[in-house]
Amino acid sequence: MDLTPSPGDESFRAEARAWLAAHVPRTPLPSLETAAGFAAHRAWEAELAADRWSVVSWPAEVGGRDCGLGRWLVFEEEYWAAGAPGRVGQNGVSLLAPTLFDHGTPEQRSRVLPPMARGEVVWAQAWSEPEAGSDLASLRSRAVRVAGGWLLGGQKTWSSRAAFADRAFGLFRSDPDAPRAHQGLTYLMFDLRAPGVTVRPIGRLDGKPAFAELFLDDVFVPDEDVIGAPGEGWRIAMSAAGNERGLTLRSPGRYLAAADRLAALWRRQGCPAYAHDRVADALIGARAYHLFTQEAASRFLAGAELGAESSMNKVFWSEYDLALHETALELLNEEGELAEGAWAEGYVFALAGPVYAGTNEIQRDIVAERLLGLPKGRR
Ligand SMILES: Cc1cc2nc3c(=O)[nH]c(=O)nc-3n(C[C@H](O)[C@H](O)[C@H](O)COP(=O)(O)OP(=O)(O)OC[C@H]3O[C@@H](n4cnc5c(N)ncnc54)[C@H](O)[C@@H]3O)c2cc1C
Repeated sequence: MDLTPSPGDESFRAEARAWLAAHVPRTPLPSLETAAGFAAHRAWEAELAADRWSVVSWPAEVGGRDCGLGRWLVFEEEYWAAGAPGRVGQNGVSLLAPTLFDHGTPEQRSRVLPPMARGEVVWAQAWSEPEAGSDLASLRSRAVRVAGGWLLGGQKTWSSRAAFADRAFGLFRSDPDAPRAHQGLTYLMFDLRAPGVTVRPIGRLDGKPAFAELFLDDVFVPDEDVIGAPGEGWRIAMSAAGNERGLTLRSPGRYLAAADRLAALWRRQGCPAYAHDRVADALIGARAYHLFTQEAASRFLAGAELGAESSMNKVFWSEYDLALHETALELLNEEGELAEGAWAEGYVFALAGPVYAGTNEIQRDIVAERLLGLPKGRR
């Protein structure tokens, strides 16, 4: 791995830094888990997209700068260091888009990606069901063949930001007679405002209303919204899941910036000795994660599959994020318990890190079996 930045990387970094310094809102936007915050974050996505900063690694014809994974990491460092807002389009950008690049048709890419890049169409992920979370292949929502498309039925749950999103992507059982649970699934995109869709918010710990469950009652989806071949949904969906856990969902730039903010908070609170080790761990952890991700990215660019290492990365960032926020709230004392601010909101989000994108218990099993070669556990 050669970490020496090229002259082009440095001018790219300088350009990104200057743009962010001129555009990042001076007052933080309201939480994107609320209706007002969602609208404000959409407007921010449009502002980013107007100067082609919303999806830098994508090809130029669909709104990006075609600048590759390496510069995407550079951009992310600058983005989070500048204190820029969380990304409302993340599900679409980090999960659906890579799937469409690998498995979508040219027509799907040119229709779906530009409005996603501009925040005009925000996507929700509709994979989980009440009895199909970790064991996703046991999902029961169905897609039934009709003239020109499919009728969707069933229930999806735990869908982040679905209360305000526009469209969703998910897996549906299209062949109930397939011999194995992973077979006979089809990957489809659908409209959250189509007839037959009911979106019901699920209460969150902090009372914010964006998290939702979806009820689908004969929802028509045209053939052009099937991703890949019908029946091949599992293989197609799994090729994107590694991306989510391993590289694109949590860029190291986010944690480098968060660790610096934690160190600043610690100094502001008079450098209390009890938190000294934890603040040092946070600073070291962020840099270690940064190096690990750079290494993973360079191997990925050289053609390697990330596979089970994505699971290791996922366990690391989710536990790291939680420890960092717990330290921050402790430093804030009772102010932290009662605060409405970024640390308190970040803490609630961090609590869910070991669960979403595949629980850490499952990720540890994957690491044990596929990376360490340990025997399969009894389930
Ligand atoms: C904040 C948040 C956001 C989310 N966003 C989305 C979203 O946008 N879209 C979406 O589709 N889903 C989303 N999810 C759902 C998430 O992916 C699931 O919650 C997760 O996969 C676990 O599934 P489950 O909740 O059904 O738990 P279960 O699968 O029922 O698991 C319950 C517990 O048992 C453990 N367990 C289960 N099976 C095994 C096993 N074989 N070995 C060891 N331990 C096991 C699990 O690790 C867990 O601790 C979100 C969840 C959260 C909390």
